[in-house]
Amino acid sequence: MRKIDIFDTTLRDGEQSAGINLNTAEKIEIAKQLERLGVTIIEAGFPASSPGDFDAVHRIAGTVKNSIVTGLARCIQKDIDTTWEAIKVAQQPHIHIFLATSPIHMEYKLKKTPDQVVEQAVEAVKYAKKFFPLVQWSAEDAFRSDHEFLVRIMNEVVAAGATTINVPDTVGYASPEEYGALFKFLLENVKGAEKVKFSAHCHNDLGMATANTIAAIENGAAQVEGTINGIGERAGNVALEEIAVALHIRKDLYHVETGIQLQEIKRTSQLVSKLTNVVIQPNKAIVGKNAFAHESGIHQDGVLKNPETYEIISPALIGEGEIPLVLGKHSGRAAFRDRAETMGFHLSEEKLNKAFVEFKKLADRKKEITEEDLLTLLTEQQVQIEDVPLFDLKMVQVQYGTENIPTATAIVLTPERLEKTVVATGSGSVEAIFNTLEQLVPGAVHVIDYRVSSVGKGRDALGEAVINIRYDDVSTTGRNSSQDVLEASAKAYLNAINRHLIKASLRAQPV
Ligand SMILES: [Zn+2]
Repeated sequence: MRKIDIFDTTLRDGEQSAGINLNTAEKIEIAKQLERLGVTIIEAGFPASSPGDFDAVHRIAGTVKNSIVTGLARCIQKDIDTTWEAIKVAQQPHIHIFLATSPIHMEYKLKKTPDQVVEQAVEAVKYAKKFFPLVQWSAEDAFRSDHEFLVRIMNEVVAAGATTINVPDTVGYASPEEYGALFKFLLENVKGAEKVKFSAHCHNDLGMATANTIAAIENGAAQVEGTINGIGERAGNVALEEIAVALHIRKDLYHVETGIQLQEIKRTSQLVSKLTNVVIQPNKAIVGKNAFAHESGIHQDGVLKNPETYEIISPALIGEGEIPLVLGKHSGRAAFRDRAETMGFHLSEEKLNKAFVEFKKLADRKKEITEEDLLTLLTEQQVQIEDVPLFDLKMVQVQYGTENIPTATAIVLTPERLEKTVVATGSGSVEAIFNTLEQLVPGAVHVIDYRVSSVGKGRDALGEAVINIRYDDVSTTGRNSSQDVLEASAKAYLNAINRHLIKASLRAQPV
């Protein structure tokens, strides 16, 4: 069977989508899970775009061992230099450079002639090749480019030393037949095509990203790029879990393998959804909450008699299912650590202790602790950054009654480690909390989005609050899960403020 390399760009193309902002710790967490999932390449970010991106790419390159780590760069020496600084610690340094090749992009965006574009691409590939053994070159908006021009520029960049040629459908315009035919044409006409990997990169604007990616594979693509849960610019990128499962379930038809550990899919999907705060639609293929739910009587009856009547994928294949939980109120630290490690968390002693304290508190208040509760609790500890002094909530109290003015009181430990008491009213309990905590920082904090949902099932389920604020002209997301939604809301608000402080301190550092 032919091997297809999976190139994950959740942390670059995915992170680029509206409303997502991940901090370095969260990116590292996702990268480690992508490594467990078995992706061939992780695109960790765009190092030249910001100090935060540089830092994340650099740390991921130093952490991940079993996947290749890459960073995006424009065809500019400065970008390539910065990317080298970020990636050089990696075991197999890889760079992804791109330049637009479609008439509309060349004329209006780059303001360059086709000859100038060829020259710039070749120079960049040659320059990158001085540092990187693996150089991927992307023809941005390839699908809407002149196909003869693609052959011309690809001949040149292959000769200059590119090891992978990416053929993106940047705007999600292609049909499966056309996209497949483009791969066939390029593989037949580009000189040296047999020495390099051709890569597909599809966007889902017309809902055809999965079909287009599969068409590219059928026509010789050896690498496919996409994101977990299909997040990404506009309608998103192709969802890698769909590609991996489709190629597995229909291996009789496609005869290819990806090396993806399918049983890690569910956990990867949940982690990405939790950290990006992008909710997965319930009917989403493979990872939606209803993807395996049978509602109609006839279907349920059939599945009970033989699951294969209506089920082509078993939930266990992607690692979904009730995993028995042996942890409870009386579990000790060793059992807790064991469980955390089975779930893929390798926390420092300090973080493990903190997580254990939180777990004990939760076990006192909640009858049954589910896998999802643990995942929430451990993820929160894992992604805490502590090298910047932050606000800590010591206590919050809210007075509410249909006849009262809602009033909140909070005691907070400030970054200077002083205890500060703040009080305010609001038209509702949540607004009272937000008004109270807003007094901790100078200026106004605008709440752009605020959501509360339950983690897991049952009346004692954890409440999760997610808040998006705009402060100092920067938008930041905060979240928290607690047994009480008001407590979760207060902590999520402070979490957003803290993340803002971390971002501000990162911006102050030079690249
Ligand atoms: Zn893209």
